[in-house]
Amino acid sequence: MRKRILVTGGAGFLGSHLCAKLIDAKHDVLCVDNFYTGSKDNVRGLLKCSRFELMRHDITFPLYVEVDEIYNMACPASPIHYQYDPVQTTKTSVHGSINILGLAKRVRAKILQASTSEVYGDPEVHPQDETYWGRVNPIGPRSCYDEGKRCAETLFFDYRRQHSLSIKVARIFNTYGPRMQLNDGRVVSNFIVQALTGRPITIYGDGKQTRSFCYVDDLVDGLVRLMDTSDEITGPINLGNPFEFTMMELAETIIELTASRSSIEFKALPADDPKQRKPDISRARDTLAWHPSIELRDGLSRTIEYFDTLLCTEGLSVT
Ligand code: NAD
Ligand code: UDP
Ligand code: UDP
Repeated sequence: MRKRILVTGGAGFLGSHLCAKLIDAKHDVLCVDNFYTGSKDNVRGLLKCSRFELMRHDITFPLYVEVDEIYNMACPASPIHYQYDPVQTTKTSVHGSINILGLAKRVRAKILQASTSEVYGDPEVHPQDETYWGRVNPIGPRSCYDEGKRCAETLFFDYRRQHSLSIKVARIFNTYGPRMQLNDGRVVSNFIVQALTGRPITIYGDGKQTRSFCYVDDLVDGLVRLMDTSDEITGPINLGNPFEFTMMELAETIIELTASRSSIEFKALPADDPKQRKPDISRARDTLAWHPSIELRDGLSRTIEYFDTLLCTEGLSVT
């Protein structure tokens, strides 16, 4: 069935892949973005499609449109970007969610929240499953993001309890792939761009901290599957790739795949940086019949190809 779908933050990394998938599935897509970290370039290929519409709007202000489904993706996700204007980050998660939930309530739309593994903070439970309540510092530099996202989850569940909204909460773990910004600041894009330009690979701390990275196509598939579940399925539901590795291993793999001569440079570990992270995806497997299918080296190769082309266009590549 053809649906009218709103994607907030649709010009960002994940949002733009999601918009493309929804357009491919023949839906009408309204992409709303304030271009804080996203860009028109990310959705340029979709602009020629008459079922795609792009609107510049900041979701911390009310929005009146008519839609059937909403993916609330708006929020900067890279630590350097969400810490640049922390008050705006919290506003986006809290005021933004209230506005978009108010909209969903008025038009009775199904609404999905792009939550995050950061709600688990620096976890004492490993791997993290959805029953774990997390260990988040409420007053640190990451709190604007973590607590904003936690409050957004609260709002989603209260709109369900109070107004019977059909909600879906996805806890997204680290995701990577083409269309991350060159200056995104997250580890995969940093390491790839450094490797391709021959600059030192910057490892924060001793590089023994772990993460588990999911390729964007797998992740977006999980989001759409979650949206398509029946009303009683609300989540929260972890979406991510359980394959865990250290940041040192990631650096070594990227150096090998790019045949780079970059050296490794150690820098200070940012405050409250989680030491380990790995999703337990049993719930996603059982409820959505979903699991990631793209292996790290394969996903990294596709991402390297993307950045290589981008850097060549800008005359910056050396490998
Ligand atoms: P991104 O920064 O590339 O995209 C976020 C988009 O939201 C950008 O286009 C930005 O301009 C837009 N935006 C920010 N504030 C806005 C506002 N107030 N009004 C309208 N638009 C606004 O990040 P991403 O990686 O694509 O993340 C998308 C969503 O997924 C975010 O909510 C993020 O918290 C969540 N998430 C992402 C990851 C990941 O690894 N990529 C992990 C966990 C959660
Ligand atoms: N809102 C919006 N678009 C709509 C409906 C509501 O942006 O189509 C905003 C509106 O600004 C409101 C918020 O969502 O403040 C919450 O709406 P809700 O109906 O839940 O609460 P109330 O209007 O009572 O504050
Ligand atoms: N990191 C790093 N070098 C970089 C960027 C990040 O070593 O140039 C580390 C960072 O300290 C963290 C991990 O890589 O331990 C993942 O960082 P990212 O910002 O991608 O995501 P998050 O910390 O939000 O999981």
